[in-house]
Amino acid sequence: MYNITVMMNPVNRVPVITAANSIIYKEVLFMKKTIALLLSLTTAAGATVCGFSANAASEKDFTISPVLISNNLNQQDAPKYVFMFIGDGMSYPQFQAASDYLGAIADGDYEQALPSVSYADRNGAILNGPKELCFMNFETAGSAVTYDACSFAPDSASTATSIATGEKTYSGMINVGITGKEEFETIAEKLHSQKDWKVGIISSVNLNHATPAAFYAHQASRNDYYEIGLELIESDFEYFAGGALLSADGEDGNLYDLAEDAGYKVTYTQEDAEKIDRFDEKVILIDEHLADSDAMEYELDRDEDNWALADYVAKGIEVLDNDKGFFMMCEGGKIDWACHANDAGSTVFDTLALADTVQVAVDFAEEHPDETLIIVTGDHETGGLTIGFAGTDYDTYLDCLTNQKISYAQFDEQYVASYKENQTSFEDAMADVEELFGLKLEGDADDRLVLTDYEVQRLKDAYELAISDDEIEYTQEQYVLYGTYNPFSVTITHILNNKAGIDFTSYSHTGLPVAVFADGVGCEVFNGYYDNTDIFNKLATMLDLKY
Ligand SMILES: [Zn+2]
Repeated sequence: MYNITVMMNPVNRVPVITAANSIIYKEVLFMKKTIALLLSLTTAAGATVCGFSANAASEKDFTISPVLISNNLNQQDAPKYVFMFIGDGMSYPQFQAASDYLGAIADGDYEQALPSVSYADRNGAILNGPKELCFMNFETAGSAVTYDACSFAPDSASTATSIATGEKTYSGMINVGITGKEEFETIAEKLHSQKDWKVGIISSVNLNHATPAAFYAHQASRNDYYEIGLELIESDFEYFAGGALLSADGEDGNLYDLAEDAGYKVTYTQEDAEKIDRFDEKVILIDEHLADSDAMEYELDRDEDNWALADYVAKGIEVLDNDKGFFMMCEGGKIDWACHANDAGSTVFDTLALADTVQVAVDFAEEHPDETLIIVTGDHETGGLTIGFAGTDYDTYLDCLTNQKISYAQFDEQYVASYKENQTSFEDAMADVEELFGLKLEGDADDRLVLTDYEVQRLKDAYELAISDDEIEYTQEQYVLYGTYNPFSVTITHILNNKAGIDFTSYSHTGLPVAVFADGVGCEVFNGYYDNTDIFNKLATMLDLKY
């Protein structure tokens, strides 16, 4: 028996998307009492302290069972091609919501079967259920616990460090110990140096953002983008593709110029990327259609002709395929960004884009069935997303999300900015909202997308704030309502999410475990419930790496 004292930290660090769309960290102060209240109201499955106030918990004794780690790993059947897909911020709610959404829109009498419909009116209608994303029927499925050296709700830098190196560190740190001194070698670096494998790193966000960086960089701060970029070049890895480098200019010169000096071919257009082939030894492909923060576009905003994440994986296979083997890490980074912003529509579509990307690896594995391993996981959950909402009880109306045509980020940039500049009327703005999100001020009584008086008032309050030039300090209520996002955009997505019967509890990360799906050679070791550091341990053992 152990005595546990639960300390409530009154300081919450939340990521903030600034007007310039770069993510910074901001400290938000709450009163201890209020946090206990918020926690007790939280509906997400991850809220394990639900019902306990901080003081009540400190007086109780808990039994803790020791963690047994078994490593029954078989090195004979080691893969030669390893794909690791990381949905940033993707835990069970993200892929299950996407899967349920696909099921809902394919089910003609879905809303007739809902619990609120009377037995007579239901007339025998049956819910057909979700449609599985390609990785959801992989041979094995496990769960990984994500806490880091300072938080149960960790960040991308520390969690990706755990996956890439098997070590725990503080939030914000990449492949260094908590003092910032000791450096950890990553699985990708080990495979590159010990087995002469080729390595590819792909991300829908910036290539020197935390998750991709965790496979090649070693920095005490994830925000040292220039230094991370220098390490990208030093890594000598063969293939990088996705969003542009942040902070490309620095003391030693421009990162792209330095990369070219180091022998990388760098492309910035789709036309040039298409010309890259297996004869190009080291390449960096920057997406042509960059959006917020120079990341790739949200899937919801992408034109059909523009390359998707899947296209970069296909090109990567072409560049990396060789007799010795390759390791490819591909991050769906904007699932996390969409969840921070509580934009369920964008979350669903970026999760579906990641599934399409995994399918490219599945197709490759079918041609190399005895040599390929595919792992699909997340680094942590973001947003406290859940399926179900207080206002819709047991009903969900996931098909409402089909009305959303663009991401919150594109709406901010292309619409809200001009509303503010032109002091557009609320009614005029709502005409765009109806076209882009389906939410309407007037319509049939049984149309779910017609706004209630309560919802209209919420939108009006948010709109006033969004087009105001006054700098105001948010009340606690306003922070809960809007986080650090544009008040109008975030209120639109909140209302649409809720009409669809889903909800978020946070603008930050949460402590839910993530899924680890695996298929192919050696996949069986990924069954079970284990720590995220064991993803590295299992892989390194299987691949017979020195560590
Ligand atoms: Zn993350």
